Amino acid sequence: MECRERTHETLKEKLRAHYQTKDKIFQPDPKNANSFGVGFFLYMSFVLLGEAFFILLPTLFQEPSLWGAVMSALILFVFVQTMLNWMLSRKKTSVVVASMRDQAVELTGADAIQSPPGWQTCLKCQLEAPPRSHHCNLCGVCVLKRDHHCFFTASCVGFHNQRRFIVLLFYITLANIIAAVLQFLYLDQAMPFLSMEFLNYIPMVTVYRWLIVGDISTWVMCVVVHLYLTLFCLAGAVFFLVWQFVVVFRGQTSHEAWKNISVYQTGILDGWRSTFGPYGMVHFLFPFQIDLQQDGINWESSMRLKSN
Ligand SMILES: [Zn+2]
Ligand SMILES: [Zn+2]
Repeated sequence: MECRERTHETLKEKLRAHYQTKDKIFQPDPKNANSFGVGFFLYMSFVLLGEAFFILLPTLFQEPSLWGAVMSALILFVFVQTMLNWMLSRKKTSVVVASMRDQAVELTGADAIQSPPGWQTCLKCQLEAPPRSHHCNLCGVCVLKRDHHCFFTASCVGFHNQRRFIVLLFYITLANIIAAVLQFLYLDQAMPFLSMEFLNYIPMVTVYRWLIVGDISTWVMCVVVHLYLTLFCLAGAVFFLVWQFVVVFRGQTSHEAWKNISVYQTGILDGWRSTFGPYGMVHFLFPFQIDLQQDGINWESSMRLKSN
Protein backbone atom coordinates (compact mmCIF):
# COMPACT_ATOMS: atom_id res chain seq x y z
CA MET A 1 0.00 0.00 0.00
CA GLU A 2 1.36 3.35 -1.00
CA CYS A 3 2.05 5.62 1.87
CA ARG A 4 0.87 9.14 1.09
CA GLU A 5 3.39 11.80 2.00
CA ARG A 6 2.16 14.40 4.44
CA THR A 7 2.26 17.81 2.77
CA HIS A 8 0.27 19.94 5.23
CA GLU A 9 2.21 21.56 8.05
CA THR A 10 0.58 21.83 11.44
CA LEU A 11 0.08 25.31 12.92
CA LYS A 12 2.85 24.62 15.43
CA GLU A 13 5.27 23.72 12.61
CA LYS A 14 4.29 26.85 10.66
CA LEU A 15 4.88 29.05 13.71
CA ARG A 16 8.23 27.40 14.37
CA ALA A 17 9.28 27.87 10.74
CA HIS A 18 8.17 31.51 10.87
CA TYR A 19 10.13 32.08 14.08
CA GLN A 20 13.25 30.46 12.60
CA THR A 21 13.20 32.62 9.47
CA LYS A 22 14.19 35.58 11.67
CA ASP A 23 11.88 37.89 9.78
CA LYS A 24 13.26 41.40 10.19
CA ILE A 25 9.78 42.96 10.44
CA PHE A 26 8.64 40.82 13.36
CA GLN A 27 12.01 40.51 15.06
CA PRO A 28 13.29 44.03 15.60
CA ASP A 29 16.75 44.57 17.07
CA PRO A 30 16.31 44.29 20.88
CA LYS A 31 18.57 47.35 21.32
CA ASN A 32 16.02 49.39 19.33
CA ALA A 33 13.30 47.97 21.59
CA ASN A 34 15.20 49.47 24.57
CA SER A 35 15.21 52.93 22.95
CA PHE A 36 11.56 52.61 21.93
CA GLY A 37 10.56 51.48 25.46
CA VAL A 38 12.36 54.37 27.18
CA GLY A 39 11.05 56.87 24.59
CA PHE A 40 7.48 55.63 25.03
CA PHE A 41 7.73 55.83 28.84
CA LEU A 42 9.08 59.41 28.74
CA TYR A 43 6.52 60.45 26.10
CA MET A 44 3.60 59.14 28.14
CA SER A 45 4.91 60.61 31.43
CA PHE A 46 5.53 64.14 30.18
CA VAL A 47 2.64 64.36 27.73
CA LEU A 48 0.11 63.17 30.32
CA LEU A 49 1.54 65.62 32.87
CA GLY A 50 1.35 68.53 30.41
CA GLU A 51 -2.11 67.49 29.24
CA ALA A 52 -3.39 67.34 32.84
CA PHE A 53 -2.08 70.81 33.80
CA PHE A 54 -2.70 72.69 30.56
CA ILE A 55 -5.89 71.10 29.19
CA LEU A 56 -7.77 68.81 31.58
CA LEU A 57 -7.53 70.56 34.98
CA PRO A 58 -8.19 74.13 33.64
CA THR A 59 -11.34 72.81 31.88
CA LEU A 60 -12.63 70.64 34.72
CA PHE A 61 -11.83 73.11 37.56
CA GLN A 62 -12.47 76.53 36.05
CA GLU A 63 -12.90 78.20 39.46
CA PRO A 64 -10.20 77.76 42.14
CA SER A 65 -11.38 74.93 44.42
CA LEU A 66 -10.09 72.58 47.09
CA TRP A 67 -10.66 69.56 44.83
CA GLY A 68 -8.69 71.21 42.03
CA ALA A 69 -5.77 71.89 44.41
CA VAL A 70 -5.89 68.33 45.83
CA MET A 71 -5.93 66.84 42.33
CA SER A 72 -2.98 69.01 41.21
CA ALA A 73 -0.95 68.01 44.29
CA LEU A 74 -1.80 64.32 43.79
CA ILE A 75 -0.75 64.41 40.13
CA LEU A 76 2.57 66.07 41.00
CA PHE A 77 3.22 63.56 43.82
CA VAL A 78 2.51 60.57 41.54
CA PHE A 79 4.68 62.08 38.76
CA VAL A 80 7.67 62.66 41.09
CA GLN A 81 7.36 59.13 42.57
CA THR A 82 7.16 57.61 39.09
CA MET A 83 10.25 59.43 37.84
CA LEU A 84 12.32 58.73 41.00
CA ASN A 85 11.53 55.01 40.96
CA TRP A 86 12.10 54.84 37.21
CA MET A 87 15.57 56.38 37.61
CA LEU A 88 16.40 54.00 40.49
CA SER A 89 15.12 51.00 38.49
CA ARG A 90 17.62 51.88 35.77
CA LYS A 91 20.63 51.66 38.10
CA LYS A 92 22.83 48.67 37.35
CA THR A 93 23.22 47.72 41.02
CA SER A 94 22.74 43.96 40.68
CA VAL A 95 25.64 43.20 38.32
CA VAL A 96 27.71 40.10 39.20
CA VAL A 97 31.39 40.97 39.73
CA ALA A 98 34.44 38.73 40.32
CA SER A 99 34.92 39.74 43.98
CA MET A 100 31.57 38.13 44.90
CA ARG A 101 33.11 34.68 44.51
CA ASP A 102 35.87 35.39 47.06
CA GLN A 103 33.20 36.67 49.44
CA ALA A 104 31.19 33.45 49.03
CA VAL A 105 34.29 31.26 49.48
CA GLU A 106 35.08 33.10 52.72
CA LEU A 107 31.51 32.81 53.98
CA THR A 108 30.83 29.18 53.08
CA GLY A 109 34.36 27.92 53.67
CA ALA A 110 34.25 26.38 50.19
CA ASP A 111 37.32 25.20 48.36
CA ALA A 112 39.14 28.11 46.67
CA ILE A 113 39.46 26.10 43.43
CA GLN A 114 36.03 24.50 43.26
CA SER A 115 32.90 26.58 42.76
CA PRO A 116 30.89 27.40 45.89
CA PRO A 117 27.65 25.34 46.12
CA GLY A 118 25.10 26.29 43.50
CA TRP A 119 27.46 28.59 41.56
CA GLN A 120 27.83 28.25 37.82
CA THR A 121 30.32 29.62 35.33
CA CYS A 122 28.82 32.03 32.81
CA LEU A 123 30.40 31.31 29.44
CA LYS A 124 29.65 34.82 28.19
CA CYS A 125 31.13 36.81 31.12
CA GLN A 126 33.71 34.13 31.97
CA LEU A 127 32.74 34.66 35.61
CA GLU A 128 31.44 32.32 38.26
CA ALA A 129 27.94 33.51 39.09
CA PRO A 130 25.90 32.92 42.27
CA PRO A 131 22.67 30.88 42.43
CA ARG A 132 19.60 32.64 40.96
CA SER A 133 21.74 34.97 38.82
CA HIS A 134 21.40 34.85 35.03
CA HIS A 135 23.10 36.42 32.06
CA CYS A 136 21.32 39.17 30.11
CA ASN A 137 22.32 39.40 26.46
CA LEU A 138 21.08 42.99 26.21
CA CYS A 139 22.89 44.30 29.30
CA GLY A 140 25.89 42.03 28.56
CA VAL A 141 26.29 41.07 32.23
CA CYS A 142 25.11 38.50 34.75
CA VAL A 143 22.51 39.92 37.13
CA LEU A 144 21.88 38.88 40.75
CA LYS A 145 18.49 37.19 41.26
CA ARG A 146 17.57 38.21 37.71
CA ASP A 147 13.83 38.49 37.15
CA HIS A 148 13.65 39.82 33.58
CA HIS A 149 14.88 42.58 31.27
CA CYS A 150 12.57 45.60 31.19
CA PHE A 151 12.53 47.58 27.92
CA PHE A 152 10.82 50.60 29.53
CA THR A 153 13.73 51.13 31.92
CA ALA A 154 16.31 49.61 29.51
CA SER A 155 17.73 47.56 32.37
CA CYS A 156 17.42 44.21 34.10
CA VAL A 157 15.17 43.79 37.10
CA GLY A 158 17.27 41.98 39.70
CA PHE A 159 17.95 41.65 43.40
CA HIS A 160 18.64 45.30 44.28
CA ASN A 161 16.19 47.13 42.01
CA GLN A 162 13.16 44.82 42.02
CA ARG A 163 11.53 46.82 44.85
CA ARG A 164 12.00 50.03 42.83
CA PHE A 165 10.46 48.33 39.79
CA ILE A 166 7.40 47.13 41.74
CA VAL A 167 6.83 50.60 43.28
CA LEU A 168 7.27 52.06 39.78
CA LEU A 169 4.53 49.75 38.47
CA PHE A 170 2.29 50.78 41.36
CA TYR A 171 2.67 54.49 40.52
CA ILE A 172 2.30 53.91 36.77
CA THR A 173 -1.00 52.15 37.55
CA LEU A 174 -2.13 55.05 39.75
CA ALA A 175 -1.03 57.65 37.17
CA ASN A 176 -2.97 55.91 34.42
CA ILE A 177 -6.13 55.60 36.55
CA ILE A 178 -6.01 59.35 37.33
CA ALA A 179 -5.26 60.20 33.68
CA ALA A 180 -8.08 57.99 32.34
CA VAL A 181 -10.66 59.50 34.75
CA LEU A 182 -9.65 63.11 33.92
CA GLN A 183 -9.54 62.39 30.18
CA PHE A 184 -12.99 60.80 30.28
CA LEU A 185 -14.51 63.68 32.31
CA TYR A 186 -13.00 66.20 29.86
CA LEU A 187 -14.33 64.32 26.82
CA ASP A 188 -17.73 63.86 28.48
CA GLN A 189 -18.06 67.67 28.71
CA ALA A 190 -17.18 68.13 25.03
CA MET A 191 -19.27 65.20 23.74
CA PRO A 192 -21.56 63.55 26.35
CA PHE A 193 -20.89 59.82 26.46
CA LEU A 194 -24.53 58.94 27.29
CA SER A 195 -25.86 60.27 23.97
CA MET A 196 -25.33 59.64 20.28
CA GLU A 197 -22.03 61.49 20.74
CA PHE A 198 -20.57 58.26 22.15
CA LEU A 199 -19.77 57.28 18.55
CA ASN A 200 -17.14 60.03 18.57
CA TYR A 201 -15.15 57.96 21.09
CA ILE A 202 -14.34 55.51 18.28
CA PRO A 203 -10.90 56.69 17.04
CA MET A 204 -11.80 56.37 13.33
CA VAL A 205 -14.92 58.51 13.84
CA THR A 206 -12.96 61.06 15.92
CA VAL A 207 -10.29 61.45 13.23
CA TYR A 208 -12.96 61.69 10.46
CA ARG A 209 -14.90 64.40 12.29
CA TRP A 210 -11.70 66.29 13.17
CA LEU A 211 -10.18 66.08 9.69
CA ILE A 212 -13.16 66.06 7.28
CA VAL A 213 -16.21 67.47 9.10
CA GLY A 214 -14.18 69.81 11.30
CA ASP A 215 -16.56 69.84 14.30
CA ILE A 216 -14.09 68.22 16.72
CA SER A 217 -11.19 70.30 18.02
CA THR A 218 -7.56 69.15 17.86
CA TRP A 219 -7.39 68.97 21.67
CA VAL A 220 -10.42 66.67 21.87
CA MET A 221 -8.97 64.46 19.13
CA CYS A 222 -5.62 64.25 21.00
CA VAL A 223 -7.35 63.40 24.29
CA VAL A 224 -9.34 60.58 22.61
CA VAL A 225 -6.08 59.08 21.27
CA HIS A 226 -4.41 59.52 24.67
CA LEU A 227 -7.36 57.89 26.43
CA TYR A 228 -6.78 54.71 24.42
CA LEU A 229 -3.02 54.84 25.05
CA THR A 230 -3.68 55.38 28.77
CA LEU A 231 -6.04 52.39 28.97
CA PHE A 232 -3.49 50.25 27.11
CA CYS A 233 -0.73 51.28 29.58
CA LEU A 234 -3.06 50.73 32.54
CA ALA A 235 -3.82 47.16 31.43
CA GLY A 236 -0.08 46.44 30.96
CA ALA A 237 0.91 47.98 34.33
CA VAL A 238 -1.80 46.06 36.23
CA PHE A 239 -0.77 42.80 34.54
CA PHE A 240 2.94 43.25 35.42
CA LEU A 241 2.17 44.49 38.96
CA VAL A 242 -0.04 41.47 39.75
CA TRP A 243 2.57 39.13 38.24
CA GLN A 244 5.35 40.71 40.35
CA PHE A 245 3.29 40.29 43.53
CA VAL A 246 2.64 36.64 42.62
CA VAL A 247 6.33 35.81 42.12
CA VAL A 248 7.46 37.84 45.17
CA PHE A 249 5.01 36.12 47.52
CA ARG A 250 5.91 32.73 46.05
CA GLY A 251 9.60 33.50 46.71
CA GLN A 252 10.48 33.12 43.04
CA THR A 253 11.82 35.12 40.13
CA SER A 254 9.88 35.17 36.85
CA HIS A 255 12.47 32.77 35.41
CA GLU A 256 12.00 30.37 38.35
CA ALA A 257 8.22 30.62 38.02
CA TRP A 258 8.38 29.63 34.33
CA LYS A 259 10.73 26.74 35.15
CA ASN A 260 8.67 25.77 38.22
CA ILE A 261 11.65 26.14 40.57
CA SER A 262 10.61 26.95 44.14
CA VAL A 263 13.48 26.04 46.44
CA TYR A 264 14.22 29.41 48.01
CA GLN A 265 10.98 30.03 49.88
CA THR A 266 10.66 29.12 53.55
CA GLY A 267 7.57 31.13 54.54
CA ILE A 268 4.79 33.17 52.92
CA LEU A 269 6.37 36.56 53.81
CA ASP A 270 9.99 35.56 53.17
CA GLY A 271 9.80 36.57 49.52
CA TRP A 272 8.35 39.98 50.45
CA ARG A 273 11.02 40.63 53.14
CA SER A 274 13.79 39.43 50.83
CA THR A 275 12.66 41.80 48.06
CA PHE A 276 11.70 44.89 50.09
CA GLY A 277 13.85 44.60 53.22
CA PRO A 278 12.77 45.30 56.80
CA TYR A 279 10.48 48.31 56.18
CA GLY A 280 8.82 47.24 52.94
CA MET A 281 5.86 49.63 52.85
CA VAL A 282 7.91 52.83 53.29
CA HIS A 283 9.26 52.38 49.75
CA PHE A 284 5.74 53.13 48.51
CA LEU A 285 5.85 56.54 50.26
CA PHE A 286 9.35 57.50 49.17
CA PRO A 287 12.28 55.54 47.65
CA PHE A 288 14.35 55.49 50.86
CA GLN A 289 17.80 53.92 50.74
CA ILE A 290 17.32 51.08 53.24
CA ASP A 291 19.73 48.15 53.09
CA LEU A 292 18.26 44.76 52.26
CA GLN A 293 18.81 41.98 54.79
CA GLN A 294 20.29 39.59 52.24
CA ASP A 295 23.16 40.22 49.83
CA GLY A 296 21.64 38.58 46.73
CA ILE A 297 24.73 36.34 46.52
CA ASN A 298 24.28 33.71 49.22
CA TRP A 299 20.98 31.85 49.09
CA GLU A 300 19.98 29.16 51.52
CA SER A 301 17.49 27.01 49.71
CA SER A 302 14.48 25.58 51.55
CA MET A 303 15.56 22.15 50.29
CA ARG A 304 18.87 22.54 52.04
CA LEU A 305 17.15 23.86 55.18
CA LYS A 306 14.80 20.86 55.21
CA SER A 307 17.68 18.41 54.91
CA ASN A 308 19.53 19.94 57.91
ZN1 LIG B 1 27.15 36.35 32.28
ZN1 LIG C 1 19.15 43.17 30.87
